[in-house]
Parts: sequence; C-alpha cells; structure tokens
Amino acid sequence: MSLALEIVDLPPATAAAKEFLQRRDHRMFIGGEWVEAQSGARLETHNPASGALLGTIPAGAAADVDRAVSAARAAFESPAWRDMTGAKRARLLWKIADLIEANLDELCELETLDQGKPLWVGKYAEVPGAIEQFRYFAGAATKIEGTTIPSSIDYQPPGKKIFAYTVKEPLGVVGAIVPWNSPLVLTAMKIAPALAAGCTMVLKPAEDTSLTALRLAELIAEAGVPPGVFNVVTGLGETAGAALAAHPGVDKVTFTGSTEVGKLMLDAAKGNLKRLTLELGGKSPAIVMPDADLELAIPGVANAIFFNAGQVCVAGSRLYVHDSIFERVVEGVANYARGIRLGHGLDPQTQMGPVVNVKQAERIAGYVESGRAAGAEIRVGGGRGGPRGTFIEPTVLTRVRPDMKVVREEIFGPVVVATPFDDVEEIVTLANDTHYGLAASVWTESLSAAHRLAAQIRAGTVWINCHSMFDATLPIGGMKQSGWGRESGQQAVENYLETKTICAVI
Ligand code: NAD
Repeated sequence: MSLALEIVDLPPATAAAKEFLQRRDHRMFIGGEWVEAQSGARLETHNPASGALLGTIPAGAAADVDRAVSAARAAFESPAWRDMTGAKRARLLWKIADLIEANLDELCELETLDQGKPLWVGKYAEVPGAIEQFRYFAGAATKIEGTTIPSSIDYQPPGKKIFAYTVKEPLGVVGAIVPWNSPLVLTAMKIAPALAAGCTMVLKPAEDTSLTALRLAELIAEAGVPPGVFNVVTGLGETAGAALAAHPGVDKVTFTGSTEVGKLMLDAAKGNLKRLTLELGGKSPAIVMPDADLELAIPGVANAIFFNAGQVCVAGSRLYVHDSIFERVVEGVANYARGIRLGHGLDPQTQMGPVVNVKQAERIAGYVESGRAAGAEIRVGGGRGGPRGTFIEPTVLTRVRPDMKVVREEIFGPVVVATPFDDVEEIVTLANDTHYGLAASVWTESLSAAHRLAAQIRAGTVWINCHSMFDATLPIGGMKQSGWGRESGQQAVENYLETKTICAVI
C-alpha cells in the first residue's frame, strides 16, 4: 500500500553539524591519524528520509583492519596506556562524557541525518545514554580488583605458607562491530567498559551510520586518549567487519547485530579462539494481563514497538493480550498508531522517522505482505512511502498464528503482531515459543502474577509495567539465540578482563 508523504529536506541548525557535513569526504581514524582506505575506495552515506547524499566514508578492508589492529596492539603495549592508573583512565572517560555533552546538539543532528530518527530520540534518550555509559564506567576503572585466596593446598614445605591471589588484566585488543539502529549509544556501551578495563579497540561502525562514530573519535582524541587506543575502520560488514572478526591480532570481538551475522562471528573467532560477546536479535513479547492498568499499558505497549520506528533490539514485537480486553487494547494501540506523525527527523513535529535504508524498508514491507498472504488482518498501517520508500506506517497485525513468519522472525520495523490468550499457563508457553530470549514486558496490577511471569519467561530482561527501560547500571543481553554475555552494569567490565591466579610458597 502506497503512502503519500511529502518530505522537505531540512538542514542542521548547529554550525558544528554544518561544518562537519561540509567536509563531505570523511576519513577514518587509525593510530591517532585521519586516513583514507588503502584502496582509496569510498562509500556514500545518505539521509534515509530524503535520499540526500550526506558525504562519503572510506571503504575500509582487510589491509586497513591490519593497520588498525597493529596500531591498537602497539598502544596496548605502550607504557603510556599500559601503565596508566585506573584513576587516570577514569578521568579520560569522564572527559569523553563531558565532550559528548558539550557537543550533544551537533551529535544528535548528525545521528538524525544519517540514521533518520527524530531529533528528540537522540536528545532525550540515546545521547544522554551514551554519556552515562562513559560516566558509569569511569567509576569502574578504579574498582578493578583481584582477591586474596586462602587456599586448601597442604603440601607446602615445612615452615612455609601458601600465598595466593588473583589479579585482573585487560584482555588486549578488542574488535567492536555495531549496527545502525542506535549507533552512538550502542558504541558507547562497548568503548566505555573496554577502555575502563585498559583494553585498546578497533571499532567498525555500520556502513549506513558511521558519521557519529567518526565525530566521537575526534572527541576521544580531544579528551587525551593516547593514539592507537581507539581506532575506527569504516566499511562494509562483509569486508571490513569480516576482516576484523577473523583477525589473529584481535583478542576479543564484541558484536551487536543480527543473530544471523552473530553466528558468523563464531566461525571467525575460531582461528585464535577469540573471546566473544554477542548482543543479537529479538522477538520480545509484551503481555497484557486482564487486570492491567490500561491507561499505562496501551501507550506503553504501543511505544514498545513504535519507538525508533521499531528498530530496537528489545522492541515489543509480539503483543499478547488477555481475551477479556483484547479488542480494547488492540484498538487502543491501533489508535495510537494512527496518531503517529511520520516525517523528517529534524522536523520538531516528527514522531517517527524513516527506517534506515531502502533495503530494510523493502524487507519490512515483505514481512507485512507475507503476513497478509498467510491470513493475518492488517488492523492499521501496512503502507510504505516517502521519496525513497523508506517510511513504513506503524502497523498492527491481528489474526496471526504462531507458525507465521511475522510471528517467528525479527522484522526490525514498526510492525506488531497481536494475539489473544486466555490463561496464565498458556501465556508462558506462547511467550517462550521463540528461539530468541532478549526481553519481555508484563503489564499487570498483581505483584505476584508479575513476579511469577518474570521468573518463567526465558529472556535476559523482563520489565514490569514498562518496556525498553535502559540504563548504564542495568545489565542487558540475551538468552537463547539473542546472544552471549551482558553489556551495561557492573559485570560488563569483566567482558574485557582476564583473571590471572598467582600462587606463591612464602
Ligand atoms: P547486521 O548483523 O546486519 O550488522 C551489524 C554489524 O555487523 C554492521 O556493522 C555490519 O556492517 C556488520 N556485518 C555484517 N556482515 C558482517 C560479516 N559478515 N562479518 C562481520 N561483520 C558484519 O545487523 P543490523 O541489520 O545492522 O542491525 C540490526 C540487528 O541488530 C537486529 O537483529 C537487532 O536486533 C540487532 N541489535 C541487537 C542489540 C542487542 O543489544 N541485543 C541491539 C541493537 C541491535
């Protein structure tokens, strides 16, 4: 269904964003220098709302990854970084946070133009979220501690004692690969704990949304992080990403992206048995119980899927509503969807922007069509439009069956499938009937129902009477095929540390 939508291209308001975009042909950041890809090849980056060309980025490949990994290895071994105290690393991280804050408006505008999201998403959620990652892990840098261990070994020489302890050491060179849906904050979730731990890093941003990663590299350099500690190689996943994932000089890969590409990381890691953290896809259930406060639940579950045009790993893309209130909730969500204003992300009236590119828009439209063809009802939405066809109407599908593709697969767009249920045992089975396990939300006024369901749902995060609540303090990550490991929260710094045991006879 074609959607009539006029999009007027809007320029950024800040002089800094204008100045950044005027550079047009950006370079990538290796060993403290701004460099071209060795091949000289470039990729274009466009505004997904209008299709306007924003600039070009180097199409990095294996040779560039080699160079960046060497720079990161040299920095890892250099006294300037290796011997830096935790307190000094903490100050650097805090400085990065201050610089992001000082340049918040510019970063939000660049993210909106490159990714399509409304400006307010960056301003009130994602960029403050990135800042908090740096501040939270600044605190962690001075709290990396081992333990002394009273061992049970009893065969030491007479008169001697055993003294055993552990120390935590940085893992080494980290390769970070991130997706395009929330570029800055997802990148910060990796850089901040890795630098707090004393690692060095090569970042491969998503090819569609590399601009804020390049601007962030400038701020990281301005903060005083030594050359080579943080490097950015731009380029395609199949070339730059694959080379980084397989590189024998990389000790660990931290990947956020689709489950499909996440599985490729396993093969790529085999050569040198790299450590892996995988933050992958989801098909998260939002469950509305019969006693839910619907004033809260209806906008809550609508926002769970429509925020950021559904391009959220934890999006509440499967809506389960008790039979007794199914019509009321589904109609409420459909009404919410009808009221969402689509537009250019820099227009202050815009509530939902385009999806990131034409390919993703076609993919989402293909899912909606497959649902319709399989017998689902399009309660609202289903349209696609804009100058490049990148705008997708917020869509609610009903009359779906558990075996339909739209129920089983991650759509990663503003499309929710709604299913009624009639008893609590059934809802646990339905919620867990997925190979994903990233997140879920439960909407109920019953304390015991909420916590019983939270215990029974196989997901890394369960929200009660809310959805998509993120914070640097709260671990996030998946069970089942939604990933390995957790980011954010105290344990995230462990992703970048090795434990060494030292055992002495004294
Ligand atoms: P994607 O897997 O296609 O790409 C992610 C990154 O991997 C990009 O930088 C891409 O260039 C790179 N890449 C692609 N092919 C590669 C290869 N062969 N080798 C190495 N790198 C490669 O994902 P996407 O479409 O950019 O992002 C959407 C996906 O990300 C969704 O599945 C979403 O759920 C997931 N995601 C997960 C989380 C989480 O925290 N669990 C957060 C955000 C997004």
